[in-house]
This record gives sequence, structure tokens and C-alpha cells, in this order.
Amino acid sequence: MTRRTFLAASLAAAAKPPNRWILVHEHILVDFTDAKDYVPNRYDRDDVVRAVLPKLQEIAKLGCVRLHECTPNYLGRDPVLLQRLSRESGIEIWTNTGLYAARQQRHLPDFAFRETAQQLADRWIAEHRNGLEGGVKPRFIKIGVDKGPLDDTSRKIVQAGVLTSKATGLQLCSHTGDGSAALEQLEILRAGGLDPKRFVWVHAQNELDFEIHARMARAGCWVEFDGIGKSTAPWHAQCVRSLAKKGLLNRVLISHDAGWYSPGMPQGGNIRGYDYVYNHFTQELTGSQAQTLLWKNPRTCFQS
Ligand SMILES: [Zn+2]
Repeated sequence: MTRRTFLAASLAAAAKPPNRWILVHEHILVDFTDAKDYVPNRYDRDDVVRAVLPKLQEIAKLGCVRLHECTPNYLGRDPVLLQRLSRESGIEIWTNTGLYAARQQRHLPDFAFRETAQQLADRWIAEHRNGLEGGVKPRFIKIGVDKGPLDDTSRKIVQAGVLTSKATGLQLCSHTGDGSAALEQLEILRAGGLDPKRFVWVHAQNELDFEIHARMARAGCWVEFDGIGKSTAPWHAQCVRSLAKKGLLNRVLISHDAGWYSPGMPQGGNIRGYDYVYNHFTQELTGSQAQTLLWKNPRTCFQS
């Protein structure tokens, strides 16, 4: 072996992605109808399976063993559909409890404005205890807030998430508009006595200030760079490297935020697959970084 081929071989070995891996933020189906007009299951499940199953089978072949479906209630969460896709693809698919106050709170049902944080938490805790349709248990909490400063309703949704996480041990994942909303949520966690390790800052890539990523990671929170695809990958790679250089890679999660079937569109519209991270983004990483981001960190964060 010449020196050059040896180097090429060792680089290839270094970039080898893991054999088994997990995607922590994806979507199977999203219905962006406002809560006041929302009708659950306004689609044919067979049609969704026809459109999405091939994308799941593709990543199952590549070693993906688990996918977290992050569509909240009132936005198209469908545990029965997920159960079926899980069975047919062989991939474990997790669903969630919680409510989404982002997009100017248009996906919040009326009761979310009237009830207290504890009353909302009681609903989510009950979903965890009793299961959703089909007996499916939510495996994490998914909420959402816009950019800071947060209004009272958004703060209440975060507080309900804190109460639920403390009662159930579930990880609290929050779609977050920007870094100021992330820091504000960190204060709410602290005030509520929740360990920051139980919090995932979803869409951290929307914050351009690397120092805020680092502050949240140093506080113990998980910093999730999702939305990875061909056009966005260079920015995501910079975000990951910035935290890796500071010794904080053990607080980072990555995913595509891809999919999804859109009810009302022919064949569900244009559905993005879930393979880019494995097939391409891992080339930006060393083998051990890929192992950390796609296997070790998801298992530590979600305690499973
Ligand atoms: Zn998402």
C-alpha cells in the first residue's frame, strides 16, 4: 500500500458512519390547518403509507433503528398511523405529548388558553399514563414557542412541559424561534426545578450566535441542529464544529426535520426522505463524531 492509498483508506475508515443509528427529529405527516378548523385524520391512512413507507424502508436498510416523530397534537399526530408504519418498516417510531404554541399560537386549541399550566400538564401526564389511541405511549414531550420575548400563554406551555417532565421523566423538546427564547426557557426550567439535561432546544440552527449555543450546552441543555439537507449542511456543519471545538459535542443532537405527508395535496405533496444525514452529512464528521451524534447522544438524551 502506498502512503497515499493508506491515507485515503484511513480517512474512509474515520468517516465510516455507525451501523445502527437514530433520528431524533422527523415528521411523517403534518397538517398545518389552524386549531379552530382542525379535523383529525382527514386523509386515507393507506395513501400515507404508500407515500412514506418507501422512505422509511430506505433508511431501515442503512441501519436506522428509531425515528422520533415530532408532530404535536392538533398538527397531525396520529399514533395509529405511526404504529402501522413502524410495524411495516421495522423502525421504532416514537410519538409525543404536548402542545405547539409557535406560529402565533394558531395550533393551540381553546382549552390551552383557558387552563392553567398544571391543568395542561395533567392532560399530558394522563396521556403518558394511559397511552394515546391504539394504546401507544408518548415517549417525549413536544412543545413549540416563537422568538422571544415569550408571552404569558407561551410561558405557560413551557411551564406545563416542565411539570410534565418532572412527573414523567420524559424529555422536554421545544421548537424554539431563536436564542433569546431558548435562554428564557432555561430560566423557566430553573424556576420550575427541572434539570436542564431534560430539555432539548429544537431548531438551534436558527440562532446565528455560536456563543448562545455554547451557553445553553454548558448549562446542560441539549442543542439540536435539525433541518439538515443539501443546501443547509454547510451551516449545520459549522454549528456542530463550533460546539465540538469547545468540548461540547456530548450535548449536540442532529436530524433532518424532514418528511412529510401534507393532507389535501395529491400523494401528500413533495416528501423529503430521511437519508441525507447518514449518506452525506456524516462525511463532514469523523467516525467517532458520527457515532456520538447519531447513536450515543440520542440514547443518553432520551434514556433509551
Ligand atoms: Zn419539526
